[in-house]
Amino acid sequence: MDIPRIFNITESAHRIHNPFTADKFATLGAALRLEPETRVLDLGSGSGEMLCTWACDYGISGTGIDMSQLFTEQSKLRAEELGVADQVEFIHDDAAGYVADQKVGVAACIGATWIGGGVAGTIELLAKSLLPGGIILIGEPYWLRLPPTEDVAKGCLAGSVSDFLMLPELIASFGNLDYDVVEMVLANQDGWDRYEAAKWLTMRRWLEANPDDDFAKDVRAQLTLEPKRYATYTREYLGWGVFALMAR
Ligand code: SAH
Repeated sequence: MDIPRIFNITESAHRIHNPFTADKFATLGAALRLEPETRVLDLGSGSGEMLCTWACDYGISGTGIDMSQLFTEQSKLRAEELGVADQVEFIHDDAAGYVADQKVGVAACIGATWIGGGVAGTIELLAKSLLPGGIILIGEPYWLRLPPTEDVAKGCLAGSVSDFLMLPELIASFGNLDYDVVEMVLANQDGWDRYEAAKWLTMRRWLEANPDDDFAKDVRAQLTLEPKRYATYTREYLGWGVFALMAR
């Protein structure tokens, strides 16, 4: 079981697989006023940076589940590197339907809400693992500017304009699900550049190391097209943030 190979190639050098930077995760951890006894569940935990740094900085413990074998391995190495391997555990698995045995104070899905079939389904799934009064974290894109055409939405790699909301509507949608938005930390263009532009050097180096790989043609095509596509569309139209929610 694994995610499509292209992500394991383009994001192999990423510690954070979304437009957040290390300082944004630190800001979020501080904003949530995490206590050492807090347990955190992270569905789609990527390379484990959020859990590992929060374990290091705030003493939390936690579990991350991710479908990428590579990212799960990287999470375990990162936990050892930061000296928190006894606080955080990483499981290589499909997180769809995952409910924790022991309920948690913070249940997160940061940039992987397809795991629950969308934002509403993911909130419902995370709620099953949550202690009363706990916090749900959702990392999700929103439109900075509404794409004027469906082609512009597709340029942002969205299926359609209706895939995402504008920020006020996204915030209102949490209220409609009977959740208070109690905190939020938003990414910015520098963070988008770190996420997207970092893929380009990784692709270039991978191509140099794997010229005869069956996949080289696809990676070459992406490296040729991605910088302009990103600068034209995603960078201009797409925002991204993490929203902290508590049931009303
Ligand atoms: N939350 C992480 C990763 C976000 S990228 C971070 O902030 O860095 C989305 C992640 O979801 C990837 O790591 C991918 O491997 C993982 N993923 C995709 N589908 C999944 C599934 N069904 N179950 C678990 N993880 C999944």
